[in-house]
Amino acid sequence: MLTIALSKGRILDDTLPLLEQAGIIPTENIEKSRKLIITTTRDDVRLLIVRATDVPTYVELGAADLGVAGKDVLLEYGGQGLYEPLDLQIAKCKLMTAGPVDTPEPSGRLRVATKFVNVAKRYYAEQGRQVDIIKLYGSMELAPLVGLADKIIDVVDTGNTLRANGLEPQELIAHISSRLIVNRASMKMKHADIQTLINTLSAAVDARH
Ligand code: AMP
Repeated sequence: MLTIALSKGRILDDTLPLLEQAGIIPTENIEKSRKLIITTTRDDVRLLIVRATDVPTYVELGAADLGVAGKDVLLEYGGQGLYEPLDLQIAKCKLMTAGPVDTPEPSGRLRVATKFVNVAKRYYAEQGRQVDIIKLYGSMELAPLVGLADKIIDVVDTGNTLRANGLEPQELIAHISSRLIVNRASMKMKHADIQTLINTLSAAVDARH
């Protein structure tokens, strides 16, 4: 049995057509179902529906053999316990700093609001900058508007959400796309099955581009 951890939303929409190429089709509508374990048209494959930020945890600790996670989530998660054999080239966006349009940086310590606390710490440490990081769980764009922070770090696609709130994208931290991740022990114990799946998905990704 292969267990694949996925999250609902953008990544799921783009991942299902790739899985279909490997004959893996969910037996019910995942977005509508309340079930968290979903069987598929392949008896040897099941899907776990988890929060996007929990996908690396399920895979690293072996509750799932494989998972699909955004590079933003993987950068924030850190950890050495995962293989990342394939860039699925879906859910592409950029991890960026953003701040109010045409506003100079404060002379004192920069205050940065983000849910990517580890990424932010690393980014500013590499630049030798002292910053105060403020952890938020959502609606990051609000923070500079109400004086909670000077800047934010968030994922940006079209930039429309930033612009709607008077913010502009500033520094690029990383290009983001979704990755297939694999548990280290599973990669050894179930090598043939997992390698076949990687090869099929890789061909499906290539065929799309
Ligand atoms: P935007 O197109 O820049 O206005 O993005 C809309 C919202 O979706 C923003 O708040 C982003 O945080 C989020 N977003 C955009 N692309 C992605 C992605 N690939 N993965 C996760 N969140 C995203």
